[in-house]
Amino acid sequence: MSRDRKVALITGGSRGIGLGVAQCLAVEGYALAINGVREPLAVESELAALEKKGNEAVYFRGDVSSPADRQAILEQIESRFGRLDVLVNNAGITSPARKDILEAGESSFDEVFSVNLKGPFFLTQAVAKWMIRQRGSRPDFSGCVVNISSISGVVASTHRGDYCMSKAAIAMASKLWAARLAEFGIPVYEVRPGLIESDMTAPVKARYDKLIGEGLTLEPRWGTPTDVGKAVAMLVRGDLTYATGQVLTIDGGLTAQRL
Ligand code: NAP
Repeated sequence: MSRDRKVALITGGSRGIGLGVAQCLAVEGYALAINGVREPLAVESELAALEKKGNEAVYFRGDVSSPADRQAILEQIESRFGRLDVLVNNAGITSPARKDILEAGESSFDEVFSVNLKGPFFLTQAVAKWMIRQRGSRPDFSGCVVNISSISGVVASTHRGDYCMSKAAIAMASKLWAARLAEFGIPVYEVRPGLIESDMTAPVKARYDKLIGEGLTLEPRWGTPTDVGKAVAMLVRGDLTYATGQVLTIDGGLTAQRL
């Protein structure tokens, strides 16, 4: 194992958008720390495929909403790789019951906020402190944090209000961390996907197929995890300069207002 290779932690990196991000960062030459909640056995083939691109890909199982799991994940990354250069906060859940906000309950609210907001916020806090320490000991260190939010943070869906609110909040978390970490040269970005084909959207595929067919998006297709991965790769490569705190919307023009 070489400590020369940059390391990226991608939460929820073994499927969907997270896997798309992992594949794009593998191409960029990153060693990959892949997090998720499933058994390691369930993600073996994805990890093997990532390693075929020539990089290490190691699975760190843990629930981002759990303080003990977050600490364990970072300790294991430190002992395995000795460094962490990029954090991609991607893990997330949709509203479990997708209930109308007139009926939605507190347990769904708590669960969605724990995974989609509390987890990434405090994971960023811990990673930021580690990045600041790394910067102190290695002048060439350049960290980067990317939060995967959603157009649901700006487009209201009344049958999953908790999800929408959690995504609006992670947008503010991105701005807060951009403001706090700028003095350390660590940029923080928000990547805001639209409709992306994944397990999360599989149950609503037919409904959105129809809407896309009727012109919901300017680009008449679903987005792919690779569309989002390419945006993240561009950011961590440093191609977008003098722009910390910025939002990249990857939605095929869904939120472009038309008259
Ligand atoms: P997905 O296919 O359902 O995958 C979600 C990933 O998050 C999985 O890898 C899952 O781990 C992981 N995860 C869930 N809860 C976790 C927890 N408590 N701790 C650690 N990992 C956890 O979803 P996706 O569509 O790829 O979505 C990824 C992110 O993009 C989410 O934040 C989502 O809100 C956002 N997003 C998605 C869309 C879309 O259209 N799909 C649009 C906008 C934004 P396991 O694999 O181990 O189960």
